[in-house]
Amino acid sequence: MTEDVVDKVLFKCEGLPEFNEFTPQRIEKEFPSILEKLNSDFNNIEIKFSSLINNEKLNWENIMQPLNKINEELRWSWGVISHLNSVKNSEELRNVYAKLLPHVINLGNKFGQSKIIYKALKTLRENNNFDVTKNRILDKEIIDMEHSGISLSESDQKSYNTISERLGELSTKFSNNVLDATNKWHLILDNKSQVKGLPERVLELMALSAQRHLKKDGDIDSQSGPWKLSLDIPTYTAFMSYAEDSSLREKLYKAFVSRASEGDENNSQIIEEILSLRTKQAKLLGYDSWADLSLSTKMAGKINSVEKLLEELREPSFKAAELELENLNNFANKNGFNDDNQLKPWDISYWSELLRKEKLNLDQEALRPWFPLEDVLQGLFRLCEKLFDIKVVEANGEAPVWNEDVLFFNIFNNSNNKIASFYLDPFSRPESKRGGAWMDECLNKNIDSEGNKIVPVAYLVCNQTPPSKNKPSLMSFDEVQTLFHEFGHGLQHMLTTIDLPQAAGINNVEWDAVELPSQFMENWCFDKKTLLNIARHYETGEKLHDEDYEKLCANRTFNCGMGTLRQLHFAITDLRLHSNLTSYQELNSDEIRRDIAKNTTLIPPINEDKFLCCFSHIFAGGYSAGYYSYKWAEVLSADAFSMFEEAGLENDQEIKDIGKNFKETILSLGGSLPPLEIFKLFRGREPKTDPLIRHLGLKATS
Ligand SMILES: [Zn+2]
Repeated sequence: MTEDVVDKVLFKCEGLPEFNEFTPQRIEKEFPSILEKLNSDFNNIEIKFSSLINNEKLNWENIMQPLNKINEELRWSWGVISHLNSVKNSEELRNVYAKLLPHVINLGNKFGQSKIIYKALKTLRENNNFDVTKNRILDKEIIDMEHSGISLSESDQKSYNTISERLGELSTKFSNNVLDATNKWHLILDNKSQVKGLPERVLELMALSAQRHLKKDGDIDSQSGPWKLSLDIPTYTAFMSYAEDSSLREKLYKAFVSRASEGDENNSQIIEEILSLRTKQAKLLGYDSWADLSLSTKMAGKINSVEKLLEELREPSFKAAELELENLNNFANKNGFNDDNQLKPWDISYWSELLRKEKLNLDQEALRPWFPLEDVLQGLFRLCEKLFDIKVVEANGEAPVWNEDVLFFNIFNNSNNKIASFYLDPFSRPESKRGGAWMDECLNKNIDSEGNKIVPVAYLVCNQTPPSKNKPSLMSFDEVQTLFHEFGHGLQHMLTTIDLPQAAGINNVEWDAVELPSQFMENWCFDKKTLLNIARHYETGEKLHDEDYEKLCANRTFNCGMGTLRQLHFAITDLRLHSNLTSYQELNSDEIRRDIAKNTTLIPPINEDKFLCCFSHIFAGGYSAGYYSYKWAEVLSADAFSMFEEAGLENDQEIKDIGKNFKETILSLGGSLPPLEIFKLFRGREPKTDPLIRHLGLKATS
């Protein structure tokens, strides 16, 4: 470089990104040349592969390494941009991102739909005797390409593409309808009695949106209204939980469950068309149903295995829910509810909150002073040091960051070798950072072309309460659990021992097994020893009281039967809608759902309830024939945790031994072996549902 250029290379495609150099302007200027380079690299790969195929000279090194290199370069450079788009958003960056995205998708499609690469992978797989890990990597690449239609005859491929396009349109239409129907409905309330029972923060929210809606200026008055009632989730859930006016709750409930089921925004026909096109597409690819197609690349594998697991949970949940509903009915009747003595769907949340308050008297906000971020982190690190024999050391300043709040840490093994690093971006910044929490890969464990070992680096992103002028960040208990959850994902990424990047960490881990380490870590928040070790008042140093700990545990299982049953209703409906069952052939999807409701709900859905019309997870998101995964992974993580419980959580030596085993199997082996095999290596047997049933408190009530 000449001396007047002080800028560092932006897209170096290796090492830690120079975050302070990435501006929207530079991204816009410099990323296109990366795309060009990757494009021409890819063309060269195809030429080289063709000659390798013709000369029958394919091996792992000359096929998989160039593919990995090009994929990694794309992942690295686009990864930084999408990361910044999520954590340091601005209008400029958003525009640049939107402009570049279609080119990135195009390039990805070019990789994924290359017949030459497909042929090279197939030939490599058929002519070699690789170990199980390499075979798994190849099989995954091959099946992904096949599922996008690459091996179909020309005419089938044409129908496949037409269906894909149509499915894309339909799911966009589906989610637009949900959005429009949700936004369209509202009520302006101006009588104080209509909002009785609502907490101040909800009144403020509703008064603010009324002011915007009515385009009024001046100060808002949360006490005298008017208030806008609407179907967005925060308003809806708060109103259903706290509003005393049951006729308004009824109105709101009916509007909510009938969203997108009539008029211009009716999704009913879209649902039928999506289901029938999915079946067609699955059949083109050689599967009996969309569920068979979806499960072919998942840990569950077969429809029957999912049905069996869901049924094992359904039975105890149903019994527990029956008792919970009876209790709730009794409580409501004793406290002045008198409407045929039977609670209606729009009464459940309201009376549950009153019962929760009477039974638990848990004030989550008041517990925040016991969870300052610094102490929670130290407690989390101590736990991981004990369980996994690692050391987490703060290394702020060692890596460029994208915001001054971002922390940086290194992880060392017991011989003091650095094995991983991670960024932690803990606080919410609504103006520039996406909501929610997630773990993402910054660098994958790898060996570079010069033979140097690259240690994995993770991004851990949360959205917890920031510190204020005179207070540190005081976390809610939910925020503590979220941090443990994301750290669990991070551990799988960072403690991997697999050197092939395609199967290291979370790579190549089946979709329904990916939440195992994260949910596993959440369990430790309910371990008394761990929690009391963490929770100290940030001013007085006082320990969390035993009764507060008990309340947090009781809250975890409060009305869990009803909650679980609801999740199972969704999961079973999703699975069966996509299974082409002969018994359902004459029924439309709403009728199928109502049939399933017979043993997955206690109060049958009312006529207005057209819940499927806004089930975006499965009709507009990636969860079709996969909604069960939430429960599937919960079963695995609860069962893994139960091994520690069986040894006795206070028994340090045993816990260390089991922790070492957990690290050497589930955290180390990533996607190198089938997930069931890894689970069995840890647990010594197949997974069981009993521990989850116990954790959810579904046995105690029967
Ligand atoms: Zn997760």
